[in-house]
Amino acid sequence: MAVTHRAKIIDGRALAEQVKQHIARRVIELKSKGQAVRLDAILVGQDAAAAVYARNQARACREAGIEHVLHELPDDSTHDDIAGHLALLNADPLVGAIMVHLPLPEAVDTERIQSLIAAPKDVEGVNPANIGNVVYGRRSLVPCTALAVMEMIESTGIKLVGARCVCVGASNIVGKPIVVLLMRAEATVISTNKFTAELATATRTGDVLVSAAGVAGLITAQMVKPGAVVIDVGISRIRGEGGIVRTVGDVAFDEVAEVAGYVSPVPGGVGPMTVAMLLRNTVDASRLANMP
Ligand code: NAD
Repeated sequence: MAVTHRAKIIDGRALAEQVKQHIARRVIELKSKGQAVRLDAILVGQDAAAAVYARNQARACREAGIEHVLHELPDDSTHDDIAGHLALLNADPLVGAIMVHLPLPEAVDTERIQSLIAAPKDVEGVNPANIGNVVYGRRSLVPCTALAVMEMIESTGIKLVGARCVCVGASNIVGKPIVVLLMRAEATVISTNKFTAELATATRTGDVLVSAAGVAGLITAQMVKPGAVVIDVGISRIRGEGGIVRTVGDVAFDEVAEVAGYVSPVPGGVGPMTVAMLLRNTVDASRLANMP
């Protein structure tokens, strides 16, 4: 029997496709003015998941007409090796956009490395200088997942000024930037984390509910305000019937879709939009780098 959902599904793949087509047109325009659009990525070691991500990223760049250069460093690279490579990329006028794939070797402090990426080239928005600029409302490169969440919320047409928004999860790279962007949109924002007591009492007040906890099935129907916009950032791999491993989000999708006004699926929601936002940040960074 076909499942009927009350909520409208926010199709991240379709939204991402629209963004990518727009980016491809901007890249053609910039190239016609003699401006290169290029993303340089550093990959350290042999992590299989990171290598797959790097390959997919290279393909997405190529499809948008963006040049992608992958710098592969050996497993035993030290802080100084990676920092030295970054310094060269930071100083190279041909390089407009930089990102560092994770994980880095255990002995290397990831946050210290991320802080070394020149802020105007930091397309993942992982240098704390960039999030500082976001807080102050200055022009800045914003973390891609937070941008993706905002685009998905805006695609529903909801007016954020004065809306009550609840964010579950408050990490530096996902939850906190989302909260800051919602604050900048002049919403009333509640930030929650794993220590929040009576989480459902908070989440039920949200006209918008964003979940970025990484806990499969955390958000159930009774935690959602009827008609709310629900954005699922979480990604978990769980073993289902017959031992088959599948990817799910934080939201118990079928039951929440009976209550919410809009809900984003996993897979096919925030993930593809995050890639599209990385491409958009790459174009923005390259354009800024070429400005007189
Ligand atoms: P993290 O582990 O750094 O942070 C998780 C946050 O959730 C913390 O603030 C923690 O306090 C909170 N939390 C954990 N359990 C909770 C609970 N039971 N109730 C309330 N809050 C709880 O993770 P992260 O890097 O922020 O990533 C969060 C999730 O988003 C992960 O599943 C990750 O895979 C996913 N993610 C998706 C994308 C994407 O593009 N779709 C990008 C980045 C991260």
